[in-house]
Amino acid sequence: MLTVNAYAATSATEPLAPATIDRRDVGPHDVRIEVKYCGICHSDIHYVRNEWYEVTYPVVPGHEIAGIVAEVGSEVTKHAVGDRVGVGCMVDSCGECVNCQKGEEQYCLKGNTLTYGSIGKDGRLTQGGYSTQIVVTEDFVLKIPQDIELDVAAPLLCAGITTYSPLHHWGAGPGKKVAVIGLGGLGHMAVKLAHAMGAEVTVLSQSLKKREDGLRLGADHYHATGDPDTFETLAGTFDLIVNTVSAKIDLDAYLSLLALDGTLVNVGAPAEPLSLSVFSLIMGRRSFAGSLIGGIRETQEMLDFCAEHHIGAEIELIPADKINDAYERVLASDVRYRFVIDTSTLS
Ligand SMILES: [Zn+2]
Ligand SMILES: [Zn+2]
Repeated sequence: MLTVNAYAATSATEPLAPATIDRRDVGPHDVRIEVKYCGICHSDIHYVRNEWYEVTYPVVPGHEIAGIVAEVGSEVTKHAVGDRVGVGCMVDSCGECVNCQKGEEQYCLKGNTLTYGSIGKDGRLTQGGYSTQIVVTEDFVLKIPQDIELDVAAPLLCAGITTYSPLHHWGAGPGKKVAVIGLGGLGHMAVKLAHAMGAEVTVLSQSLKKREDGLRLGADHYHATGDPDTFETLAGTFDLIVNTVSAKIDLDAYLSLLALDGTLVNVGAPAEPLSLSVFSLIMGRRSFAGSLIGGIRETQEMLDFCAEHHIGAEIELIPADKINDAYERVLASDVRYRFVIDTSTLS
């Protein structure tokens, strides 16, 4: 067992604080990673504040991990000491169900093992990337290409794949009109990726406050959803709309923006149920869908795509003692566009 420095939540209401946790010994198929950077995802905040499930404390969040391989088990073939690697939202799955067989481990029918807050196959509670080291089975370790710096690569492991997967699945590319609702951690990645795929990209944001950023990141158009004219002007326009906002939205209004056979896909999950008029779907053979991160194969494909197109996240690098401030700023939408923890400050 290896004792490592971390930052942990001890209850739903206390601020996160320095802690130590144990990592399992490196097994034959394991890789020990020296964590260099870890992104702060909005889910980390929901999780540590017990807003989603019953949480066992202490919990070390973090599932946007980038680092260097420090040790490999005797049977490991995919990674070597010194490799630049990443870990996202999952660290294991059953490997046998029909979805795992397809490489869609995020939809594992037996339930995959999340990077933190899950019970792993060793019977221990998993702990995430706000820590200096992590041990992960080799199949769930991704390669980070040389062309991406590790700090801007970290958020690709959740925000990147969460938006890449639906864009790829629904065919974003040349000749396709794609809209992105919300320009935050997920939204800014969706804009960069859809633009690199060759689609015509529109940002739909509450106001025009971040318009310059949106256009700089690759959007062709930028509209304020607070302006009722937007919905008239853009009616029937988009082949794909990616909704990155977790708040409740007027689904019928957004569905009316879809072209024939268009799809509105949710990657953010509002806490309350949404309602819609089925007519919004029937008129124009439209679809309303959801999408969860991506499988391991697709996550690697996304990282390679980002390297090829020189895409990283827009980040604000912080030391560990700023994590609690960063949480407040994420909740106030005061970040452009992802906080990343420099884990060398976890001493
Ligand atoms: Zn996340
Ligand atoms: Zn499975």
